[in-house]
Amino acid sequence: MNFIDPVSGTHYSTGTPRWCSDSGGYLNLSQGAGLKRADIDNSRHSVWRYAKAIAVDDKHAVTMGEGWTPLTCGDWNGVSVLFKLEFMMPTGSFKDRGMTVMVSYLKSRGISEVLEDSSGNAGASLSAYAAAAGMRCRILVPETASYPKIAQIAACGADVVTIRGTRQDVAEAAIRLSSEIFYASHNWVPFFAEGTKTLAYELWEQLGFKVPDNVVVPLGYGSNVAGCERGFGELLRNGEITKMPRIFGVQAANCAPYYNAYQAGVDHLVPTTVTPTIAEGIASSKPTRVVEALKAVRNSGGSIVAVSEDEIIAALGALARKGYYVEPTSAAAAAGLTQLLASGAIKPDESTVLVLTGTGLKASEKIGELLKLKAREM
Ligand SMILES: *Cc1c(COP(=O)(O)O)cnc(C)c1O
Repeated sequence: MNFIDPVSGTHYSTGTPRWCSDSGGYLNLSQGAGLKRADIDNSRHSVWRYAKAIAVDDKHAVTMGEGWTPLTCGDWNGVSVLFKLEFMMPTGSFKDRGMTVMVSYLKSRGISEVLEDSSGNAGASLSAYAAAAGMRCRILVPETASYPKIAQIAACGADVVTIRGTRQDVAEAAIRLSSEIFYASHNWVPFFAEGTKTLAYELWEQLGFKVPDNVVVPLGYGSNVAGCERGFGELLRNGEITKMPRIFGVQAANCAPYYNAYQAGVDHLVPTTVTPTIAEGIASSKPTRVVEALKAVRNSGGSIVAVSEDEIIAALGALARKGYYVEPTSAAAAAGLTQLLASGAIKPDESTVLVLTGTGLKASEKIGELLKLKAREM
């Protein structure tokens, strides 16, 4: 397995951990052998049941039972859909699916301290997996980060440091520090998507070794899109499936760089105005692997849609009234599905998976405000 610089074509051995190329660009991971049905280790109920196809020696696996999340039947706007409950992971979001693989890789290469800039689910996930791996961990967060998030990260023993300025300033501070501490950014280190590809394996296995027609995911940087493309792509090359599902990425209209590029029909970012969104997990104004994510969606026959704040709030309430208490970022995907059904892009008789990426439990204060929730007085 090699790191590949998609711009220069340079290969680097994964024997030495790196998060970027010599010229500072992002790296992808070379193609692996992928999975065959007989490779599944049924005795393990985590992403490591697919260890044979994961490019990390599993004797180094740092695992807390992540993955193997429920796939439930339900309906959305009167149409049958499948809900993939990715919020049922150790730290409350799908980030654990990628983090277990990325941290296991770093541990196998002798890394003992990691750095990341994230005030949200990625920071919580990395601090938990670093704790499980016995690594030291430093997380940089914006000074506006809310206390519950800082608490979850700090509780796992990470050194949490607030940085003045914008989200971009925090990212730049992390890159400056990366000369001292390994920058374990899930948006840069491609072993993260090596973990998220197991979403595709799981959907295939849980559907009786079939692929759904459509997979709808929230789209920020694109690790669910990349995971679907890599996982289903491997199954296709191995002859385990005969077609890719269509991949639909949902962005918040207030922060929609991928949507704008998709609409413009190009494979690079176009000038985009960004305003705050309640879907903070996908509020990514400058995603990393833009060419790859756009190509994955287009080649699958899917599309990228953008949803308004009001649409997100409506979907958040509707999901909760079905019992699915998720965070606004996850509700954005459901709002996207509403649009896709209304436009006829997704048909009622197709099999559609809606990926619910993060729990509402971390966001109760926000959710209460948005849905105007309160107890009734006697
Ligand atoms: C990080 C995150 C996303 C977005 O994932 P990307 O890889 O940035 O596309 C979606 N939902 C939740 C809950 C997240 O934490």
